[in-house]
Amino acid sequence: MARPSALQVVAYGEHARRLVSTQSFARGDTVTVFSLSAPLAVPGRHTLQIQEDRHATLIPSCLSYMDHSCSPNVGLDLGKEQLIALKSIAIGAPITYFYPATEWRMAAPFSCGCGAPDCIGRVEGAQALGADVLRWECISIHIQRLIHKGS
Ligand SMILES: [Zn+2]
Repeated sequence: MARPSALQVVAYGEHARRLVSTQSFARGDTVTVFSLSAPLAVPGRHTLQIQEDRHATLIPSCLSYMDHSCSPNVGLDLGKEQLIALKSIAIGAPITYFYPATEWRMAAPFSCGCGAPDCIGRVEGAQALGADVLRWECISIHIQRLIHKGS
């Protein structure tokens, strides 16, 4: 799948790259469609959790450059395979999603510097947040199931 025309990977600082929008979106807009690689049993550096015990990479691969934010501007609809705008997005804005929306237990937890008023601080996956994770929009069905199971 070709790079979506609305998205671009740009250099960020010395060594990092991130995904930015090349057009504006309103809340509820589809930012792009995506597909998933063949399912993997083990998470990798650029995978996304798609079920309780399955992971995959997003296609096109530029989507792996989406940063985490606790006040994200997109959500992933894994069923419809669409990236949905959760707020208005300006041209040039970094595309961000809430990693615990898909990840139960992250292989590489990190400290968040997003600056959102309700920043969760340490990003470890939904398991660390418990039912609190449901305050965010677009929480994946498999995460909702795991929360309700009380895992
Ligand atoms: Zn944060």
